[in-house]
Amino acid sequence: MKIYSYSKLSTFENCAFQFKLRYIENIKVDKDTIERFLGNIVHYTLEYTYLNREKLLKKENPKEAIVQLFRHFWAKGSEHTTDFKKFGGYKSSIVVVKRGRGPEDYKTMGERCIERYFDAYFPFDQNKVLGMEERIQIKLDPAGEYLLNGIIDRLDETPAGDIEIHDYKTGANTPSQAKIEKERQLPLYQIGIAEKFPGKKITLIWHYLMSGNEFPLVKTEAELQGVKSETMGVINEIESTKDFLPHKGPLCNYCEYFGTYCAK
Ligand code: SF4
Repeated sequence: MKIYSYSKLSTFENCAFQFKLRYIENIKVDKDTIERFLGNIVHYTLEYTYLNREKLLKKENPKEAIVQLFRHFWAKGSEHTTDFKKFGGYKSSIVVVKRGRGPEDYKTMGERCIERYFDAYFPFDQNKVLGMEERIQIKLDPAGEYLLNGIIDRLDETPAGDIEIHDYKTGANTPSQAKIEKERQLPLYQIGIAEKFPGKKITLIWHYLMSGNEFPLVKTEAELQGVKSETMGVINEIESTKDFLPHKGPLCNYCEYFGTYCAK
């Protein structure tokens, strides 16, 4: 059995052909969208902020400093930092799909996300941070035949000793509470880390940074079992699929294979 991830499964559910090109045929296309780029830069800025909190606190204007950090990552990537992972800055080949918008609009949106987050959480000491971009493995069945890899944006321990799984979203739309309750990603992460924290309460928190909305949820054991069976069902479907058919729709505009490996 192969090892999956939440994004592999959702790719298959959106378009089986895209899944085949990306994960079976391993076709790499150098095409990035502005939404994906913006999401990465916001994630890096927040990760760097938590990891370098002490340095930030010493700045005369910490809010301006964190926005400057975002601007720096946007323009240059991480080339001038020595203690952080490498990634590239903005380049003109990054695709802007939405008509009437340019890269500067997204940059401004990213700055607003960072400012809003700063206003809500500075000095970032609400909890003890246990991990940033924490890599985990998720075992869905006792035999370990159904496995997923995952990366938790931020894993915290609260002053009361409870655990929180935080996830940052930079999409333009904020979903309804009902939609969040059906989400599989963070419950899967909970399944992945639960064994490490026996008996602890685990809260899942989605941060929708564009709107400033947050959704904290505590899942029941029955709900987590449901997520496990649903996910194993998707894996079974992938493993038994012979024809990975294209699914045309609005998401094609964001697909790296659109117009090349997959006809318009
Ligand atoms: S362009 Fe659309 S149909 Fe084709 S692989 Fe991408 S998402 Fe699927």
